[in-house]
Amino acid sequence: QVTDTLAKEGPSSPSYDWFQTDSLVTIVIYTKQKDISLDSVIVDLRDDSLRAETFIKDYSYLIHTGLSHEIQEDFSVRVVENVGKIEIVVKKKENASWKCLGHPLEDHNSFIPKKDTGLYYRKCQLISKEDVTHDTKLFCLMLPPSTHLQVPIGQHVYLKLTIAGTKIVKPYTPVSDSLLLEFKEPVLPNNKYIYFLIKIYPAGLFTPELDHLQIGDYVSVSNPEGNFKITQLEELEDLFLLAAGTGFTPMVKVLNYALTNIPSLRKVKLMFFNKTEDDIIWRSQLEKLAFKDERFDVEFVLSAPTSEWNGKQGHISPGLLSEFLKRSLDRSRVLVCICGPVPFTEQGVKLLHDLNFSKDEIHSFTA
Ligand code: FAD
Ligand code: NAD
Repeated sequence: QVTDTLAKEGPSSPSYDWFQTDSLVTIVIYTKQKDISLDSVIVDLRDDSLRAETFIKDYSYLIHTGLSHEIQEDFSVRVVENVGKIEIVVKKKENASWKCLGHPLEDHNSFIPKKDTGLYYRKCQLISKEDVTHDTKLFCLMLPPSTHLQVPIGQHVYLKLTIAGTKIVKPYTPVSDSLLLEFKEPVLPNNKYIYFLIKIYPAGLFTPELDHLQIGDYVSVSNPEGNFKITQLEELEDLFLLAAGTGFTPMVKVLNYALTNIPSLRKVKLMFFNKTEDDIIWRSQLEKLAFKDERFDVEFVLSAPTSEWNGKQGHISPGLLSEFLKRSLDRSRVLVCICGPVPFTEQGVKLLHDLNFSKDEIHSFTA
């Protein structure tokens, strides 16, 4: 009956197969979909078991097997987009012929709505930690070699630490290591590293513990979640970003992606709300980017400025928004993204509706 319901309401169930050479085993997932990419699949090898979760629309297809023979730690993942095929190639420890792939583990070969799946975590190592403002730091975590995971743009993950014997979990949004792409160090193979901008709250439960980690310590990282879809940026002409405090984090990758991958884009405008000048994350990078790329403008708004500040002041308001949200063309295709403290986002969304932006033209980032 479950299969019947899926056939009517969801995408058709994927299937899988496997084959081998002397030294390699290839597991092939036939997704029966064309819009898949390397971030559609998450693979974890652990204690000779293989767990591969593939995301197809709002569904999750799981391969979960205890492997019949030992394998090496590193592996590769390939996607053949035009036929919707995913190949996971693992290396045998010994060149023997396998009679079977292995034995099924929990939920193997299941295809269920993503919302019904639990979060799966793997331990990542803290590689570096850099001050960004007086209370916000850039953390770099490294995925284990036995994991393939790419966080899609606009999505967040959960970080987990055990604090005084209790597991504590909080959501964080990965960012790029910089807004200025040419400054990126090409030395590191990019997708093994995940960067986070995290504000440390001295009285907070989670962030002081995270801040106390030493380089080389471990923190668990979940599979990504979130309802932003990259297709929301397709053929866009005007992109408006309203961010408050660390609500800036989802804007980082959206901004980088839009400026490099959306040819129709005419204008990106960021209105960045903070308490004081010292709280502004990556201010000089934002100003450099605005100087370098004439499509990008940034405006800072402070709620508790010093008397020297001669920029915009106050909280999110109809006056600030109506002046800021000017389309570059009369009927340009537009998206307004908003993220920050809950009251900020709620107020902002209400104001956007009052300014006649439709539901499809607004994306609010929330948990
Ligand atoms: P908490 O214990 O939650 O406390 C935070 C502050 O509130 C402290 O100053 C504390 O003293 C105060 N406080 C706590 N409880 C109360 C109370 N009852 N009354 C009054 N004050 C109180 N944050 C980032 O820095 N970077 C990100 O990329 C990021 N991404 C996020 C993505 C999502 C989807 C969401 C929902 C949140 C994100 N956050 C991000 C916020 C993050 O998840 C945590 O909420 C944040 O780090 C605070 O955690 P904490 O446990 O240290 O502090
Ligand atoms: P903050 O306290 O430094 O405030 C930044 C600005 O937000 C203020 O200057 C003000 O303009 C505005 N603001 C704050 N409270 C407001 C209120 N009650 N009404 C209207 N405007 C208000 O912010 P912070 O400490 O950096 O907190 C950032 C928030 O963003 C956190 O609550 C975090 O959970 C949230 N966040 C959410 C996501 C997400 O949902 N995807 C991602 C990152 C951060």
